[in-house]
Amino acid sequence: MGLVTLTGLVLSASDVGEFDRRLVILTKEAGKVTAFAKGARRPNNPLVAACSPFCFGVFDAFEGRNSYHLSKANISNYFRDLVMDYDKVVLGSYFLEVASFLSVEGGDEKLRLALLYQSLKALESGKFSHRLLKNIYDLKTWVIDGEYPNVFSCMCCGKKEGLTAFSTKLHGTLCKTCAEMEAGVDISTSTLYTMQFIVSSSIEKLYTFVLNGKTEEELTRILDAYRLNYRSHKYKSEEFL
Ligand SMILES: [Zn+2]
Repeated sequence: MGLVTLTGLVLSASDVGEFDRRLVILTKEAGKVTAFAKGARRPNNPLVAACSPFCFGVFDAFEGRNSYHLSKANISNYFRDLVMDYDKVVLGSYFLEVASFLSVEGGDEKLRLALLYQSLKALESGKFSHRLLKNIYDLKTWVIDGEYPNVFSCMCCGKKEGLTAFSTKLHGTLCKTCAEMEAGVDISTSTLYTMQFIVSSSIEKLYTFVLNGKTEEELTRILDAYRLNYRSHKYKSEEFL
């Protein structure tokens, strides 16, 4: 067993045995990993504080065949303001559950980890509506996984200008002419720009805008329909949203 250093965020934690904790951590180095924290439920154990969801930091661990054994943790962000607010915990738990469901053990999950971290920071800041945060997080997650709607050209003729409609069925936008023949819903310029921005922006710049009520509603309607058609997995935490 070799000692490794992992940078990551705790997605979930559960009790095992009398004194131990089992963690699922999304890491920069090894994708999603399972890690055991021996004695983490004994009072005064140095790992106690590190063994909760939302903890982000550096973990020293021994690498076993299928899992890791934590030896030390240095938490740099506990997301303390987030975990003290019930509504934020609900949406934050949804972010964690989605990341956990879609990430792969041993895979390259750097982008997903970065998206998760930035999304939790934006959520904790209180500067964004929860509806907008969920829309941004979901759409960017689809982009990371390579299955997302095309919002830069017409799905029928390929034209890049005059995009005025969105078709869930065709996975993307339509120009004015093609929209007359294909069923789609109207999309305003501001909603179109918003979707283009979310798809193409770097993760660091993702949470730099808010929307007016009307645009936010339209974006939500379009993404809800898309989610309903192509994202059949039901997340447990979604029931509380
Ligand atoms: Zn067209």
